[in-house]
Amino acid sequence: VSGAVLLEREQLTSGTTWHTAGLLWQLRPSDVEVELLAHTRRVVSQELEQETGLHTGWIQNGGLFIASNRQRLDEYKRLMSLGKAYGVESHVLSPAETKTLYPLLNVDDLYGTLYVPHDGTMDPAGTCTTLTRAAAARGAQVIENCPVTGIRVRTDDFGVRRVAGVETQHGSIQTPCVVNCAGVWASAVGRMAGVKVPLVAIHHAYVVTERIEGIQNMPNVRDHDASVYLRLQGDALSVGGYETNPIFWEEAVKSRTRAAGGLCLKTSTVKGYIPWSDDLRRA
Ligand SMILES: Cc1cc2nc3c(=O)[nH]c(=O)nc-3n(C[C@H](O)[C@H](O)[C@H](O)COP(=O)(O)OP(=O)(O)OC[C@H]3O[C@@H](n4cnc5c(N)ncnc54)[C@H](O)[C@@H]3O)c2cc1C
Repeated sequence: VSGAVLLEREQLTSGTTWHTAGLLWQLRPSDVEVELLAHTRRVVSQELEQETGLHTGWIQNGGLFIASNRQRLDEYKRLMSLGKAYGVESHVLSPAETKTLYPLLNVDDLYGTLYVPHDGTMDPAGTCTTLTRAAAARGAQVIENCPVTGIRVRTDDFGVRRVAGVETQHGSIQTPCVVNCAGVWASAVGRMAGVKVPLVAIHHAYVVTERIEGIQNMPNVRDHDASVYLRLQGDALSVGGYETNPIFWEEAVKSRTRAAGGLCLKTSTVKGYIPWSDDLRRA
């Protein structure tokens, strides 16, 4: 890490990260993802805290996948087998067992669920703070309010274009290596070096409920067929979904400065844009 410099045009987490749901599900159909998630979970739930003495805000409230048809339940049984190979504890539950675990859940139309007790929720601010604290202790530098305005590129003796430095309003940094981690703005940063980053931003809607009695400590819920997630947020839920016909958001990629209020649209702007609202019956 020594010698690495993180340049952030505003404050850390001010991009997408501050309003992430932060759901960490350990079981995914690809073994690469399972290993990556196991590593992330280890870092966030144990290693960062051991290294920095700071709690990342990790909450181990468990995760529940909903099967509303037989094929989905079969898939969850396969995921459970995959989990066994990787040491991830999981249980396929009947609707009645699911009701015992999560009494507020409507289980009438369920075939079953997959329960992963060591899944959980990451806190974006806490994770970012502990990560930067650990990186700084190893010699990295974090500079906020410092937008990257250009990337200098040179052509070497073999005709290969190579990074030579990074420009900012406060000066330049000579470096042969740049990691583009600008999220939805990555294509704008890539263009500075003549690189096309194939990435588009899309609108995403989510709803935060009022307080729900009895919801505390319940697992996060993912319904893959309805494309909806229910995230525990203290004693309320935040409910989000993935659109099958999303609205692209070109301004986000074009914009150089973050509008007031960040990436979050006003409630009135998203009104009528909750394509998965029929699925709110689950909670
Ligand atoms: C509602 C919602 C729910 C989500 N739920 C989940 C979930 O449950 N699980 C999950 O794994 N993921 C989830 N995600 C996705 C996750 O939040 C993102 O993948 C992640 O936060 C992206 O982090 P990032 O650091 O790549 O990008 P960002 O957090 O957007 O960081 C990019 C940074 O680059 C900075 N920047 C841009 N241009 C420049 C420049 N020229 N110079 C310097 N700095 C610049 C920006 O200011 C910003 O801070 C969710 C996202 C949303 C919006």
